[in-house]
Amino acid sequence: MKKLVVLGGGKSGIGAALLAKKNDWNVFVSDKGIITDKEVLTNNDIKWEEGSHSENEILSADEIVKSPGIPDGIKIIQLAKENRIPVISEVEFAYRYTNAKIVAISGSNGKTTTTLLVGHILKNAGYDVLVTGNIGTGFARSILERDYDYIVLELSSFQLDGIVDFKADVAIILNITPDHLDRYNNDFQLYVKSKLKITNKQEKKDFLIYNIDDENIKNHIETSGRKIPFSIKETIKNDGAFYKNKQININLNNNKMTIQELALQGKHNVYNSMAAAVACRVLEVKDYIIRQSLLDFQNIEHRLEYVLTVHGIDFINDSKATNINSVWYALESMHKQTVWIVGGVDKGNNYDELLELVKDKVKAIVCIGEDTQSIHETFGNDIKDIVDAKSMSEAVSLSFEFATKGENVLLSPACASFDMFQNFEHRGIEFKNSVRKL
Ligand code: ADP
Repeated sequence: MKKLVVLGGGKSGIGAALLAKKNDWNVFVSDKGIITDKEVLTNNDIKWEEGSHSENEILSADEIVKSPGIPDGIKIIQLAKENRIPVISEVEFAYRYTNAKIVAISGSNGKTTTTLLVGHILKNAGYDVLVTGNIGTGFARSILERDYDYIVLELSSFQLDGIVDFKADVAIILNITPDHLDRYNNDFQLYVKSKLKITNKQEKKDFLIYNIDDENIKNHIETSGRKIPFSIKETIKNDGAFYKNKQININLNNNKMTIQELALQGKHNVYNSMAAAVACRVLEVKDYIIRQSLLDFQNIEHRLEYVLTVHGIDFINDSKATNINSVWYALESMHKQTVWIVGGVDKGNNYDELLELVKDKVKAIVCIGEDTQSIHETFGNDIKDIVDAKSMSEAVSLSFEFATKGENVLLSPACASFDMFQNFEHRGIEFKNSVRKL
């Protein structure tokens, strides 16, 4: 019996362990911290440890599945590599146990939205589809009980780092902008390479749907798959999609279709909708189903989510905006003067990129979180009112004072949330609760 060691007993690690056990591996789960769901391991006769990594147990593995959260640099991974033990991701492992057609979505921003859009369209078309990856219970665990005809996968760059044979029948790359650079030796090119890995194993019959407006993608893309670009800046003459005169145009194999109305607002969502529509077109979903699905899609929580109007002021929760690029699109889509709540754990943000938009759209800034100095420095000359708040409820009441009827209050933090909150969902919920208490 071959031995699989799973490093990291979080959601994806537990899923990989269960799938491995079911497929007759000898499984051992090791977590340096605490494993929250130990019971399910014990109930399935899977050995585990927490609080440390036992070298003898781990280095006797035939293969190691490493959770996306664990950096490559740690000692046990280095030792495994020295011992020539393959280290893969949960996605790579789960991939071996499915025969589904795979649609995989990668990018710095918009992955969840686009993944859910593709899933929504395919479900409306009556396809047997699983939507997973960073979403829900994870890939491995979701295919424990049964396989599907189609799997739509949201892939982070950490998951892509650990793939080897994984191949998507249809891959989407939405955009590549700086994020998580701390995990890539602060080398943007390494991060770009990791995102583009999604297409490495693709063959002629596979499709790569990509954003041709993004220089980082356009200039670095190499694939054996069939390239289908999408753009909102240029007219695509051959196969591809473009946005012109408020209309999405898709052309594939000399078949043309157009889409006029979208449920999701903002330029970024034109990109997401376009990418999702092309993917579903490739999978031969009928035009009217794609059109209808893009129209009746329900917005997802924490992504430019309208919360409430209080005294004529609209409150918008964009807690998921954890980097500069996503905030750029949030501000860009504001049609009224806006009070902007920003800050948290700064992953090396360059706020200068937002200066022009902020001058145009932002009335006042309320900072939250541990690190507000660079926000003050960047915008202090142009925005008269910049204040710090110690809690979300204080941030919301200060914003309420700055805003007047007909204006917006937008939480779009550009930062991680771990200084004040458990995660971005917690941050968004606190925001919404504070707004409801006004
Ligand atoms: P991800 O799963 O890649 O983090 P989400 O769909 O959860 O992406 O969206 C994250 C944030 O980025 C939200 O604030 C959202 O409004 C914004 N966003 C969504 N799509 C895009 C895009 N194509 N380009 C830039 N920002 C986007």
